[in-house]
Amino acid sequence: MSSHVFKNIFEEFTRGTIFENVDMDIEEVSPMFKCGCGYWRRGKGLKMDDMSCPRCKQELEMFKGNEFELLDVY
Ligand SMILES: [Zn+2]
Repeated sequence: MSSHVFKNIFEEFTRGTIFENVDMDIEEVSPMFKCGCGYWRRGKGLKMDDMSCPRCKQELEMFKGNEFELLDVY
């Protein structure tokens, strides 16, 4: 995924969600998981078989922590 595409998706995803106000620790490179319903969590300590959203049971989508460094652009 190119950074351009990622930024567009991230911008769309963060609109109206907790991401708008979260204090991102972008120096911590750990995988993060998000769901289409707006749920997200850090992957640190997350079991690989625990990949479904606790809210809506959809499969979570993983982002590598270092991809969140793109937030610096904003
Ligand atoms: Zn969900």
